[in-house]
Amino acid sequence: MYKPIIGLEVHVELKTKQKMFCGCPTDNFGKEPNTLTCPTCLGLPGALPFTNQEAIKMCAKIGLALNCQLAEKSLFERKNYFYPDLPKGYQISQYRWPLCTNGFLMVADKTDEKRKIRINRVHQEEDTGKLLHPGDQTLIDYNRSGVPLVEVVTEPDFTDTEQVKNYAKLLAQIFRELEVSNAEMEKGDMRLEANVSVSPPGSEGLPNYRVELKNINSFTFMASAITYEIERQIKVLESGEKITQHTRGWDEVKKETFVQREKEEANDYRYFPEPDLPELRIKNLESRIKQEIPELPNMREERLVQDYGLPSSSSATLSASKELAILFEDSVLLGKSKGITPLEISNLLLNVSVKNRPKDSLATISTIEQSKSGIIDDNNQLEVLAGEVITENRRLVESYKSGKVTVIMALVGMVMRKTAGKADPLKTKTILEKLLQS
Ligand SMILES: [Zn+2]
Repeated sequence: MYKPIIGLEVHVELKTKQKMFCGCPTDNFGKEPNTLTCPTCLGLPGALPFTNQEAIKMCAKIGLALNCQLAEKSLFERKNYFYPDLPKGYQISQYRWPLCTNGFLMVADKTDEKRKIRINRVHQEEDTGKLLHPGDQTLIDYNRSGVPLVEVVTEPDFTDTEQVKNYAKLLAQIFRELEVSNAEMEKGDMRLEANVSVSPPGSEGLPNYRVELKNINSFTFMASAITYEIERQIKVLESGEKITQHTRGWDEVKKETFVQREKEEANDYRYFPEPDLPELRIKNLESRIKQEIPELPNMREERLVQDYGLPSSSSATLSASKELAILFEDSVLLGKSKGITPLEISNLLLNVSVKNRPKDSLATISTIEQSKSGIIDDNNQLEVLAGEVITENRRLVESYKSGKVTVIMALVGMVMRKTAGKADPLKTKTILEKLLQS
């Protein structure tokens, strides 16, 4: 059996007010091209960058939320490459001195078992401009150039695509709850790249190649691309050929990956320290930043299991949405005095469709109470039963019609008896009155 070896790089755009190294606004979705620019983010000669502190704190927050260590000293470097999406001729990024290193996240694999995914680094960089290709032209929009971007890089610890999907979804949810990004993939806030290789049976260590899957804009497409790539690589190796290091994209129509370009090595970028920006030393802010981290979905999931004895699968689903988890806990509090268990509440919330989900804890508890007591409050059903009671009790009906209205309670009692006490008495009375007046 070949063993898939997968690592993930996630880029996320931060929702700071200003760009990473200048004062231009970041809110560029749907804006007129090239209106949110200045000499710095256009890379004009003589313009100098300055560091956005808000972004650095957000980057540190992400790192700490992912159990990373915050560096004593961190540095920006220039990543040199020549391409029109970055007019400076280099991207300001981090290479040898990233802000955060050595973290981890526990992520469920395809057998639902939680496994440790090691986070190699979380570093700060800037986004590039956007190239558009209408017809045979190429147009450039620099509104996005210089928007703060954080990159989260894992070790090659994933062993199946389900786990990759779970990780990416969890990460997006963490970004949203930390309020550092909207993490909407369709808007390009969050971008995934996967490194995929397969290890032949019996071999030790990592393979000597890896294929990078790039420019894939949805969780589902990424999962399809990885699955395809694993099978493709196994076929190539089985036929005795070698796989070269390169980058591939995903063709959603043909459902296959295709070669984009041969891979650059890190030394092609000639990294060197950015001379125009100071070192980052924010270790002294660590405890303050940690205090600003709210309970995140992964922490919540563990706590719900511990506090309420929920099965881990239920806890995972409840925790994936903050609103749902709050509804659950509010309902537990309210249900306690009525003898309704957390498990009953979680079962109800997880078994109804999102559309039919109770709006608040009160609705949740009354739905459970009703289904437990088996109260019959369906109008049609009650009308049929009331009709039967009327035809079967002519004498009582006559005395009601002659003015003895208290007899109605005896008729309600007959309906109750027919339903072993489960008819809703108030509704039954209203229905009987209506039928007796007609
Ligand atoms: Zn600017």
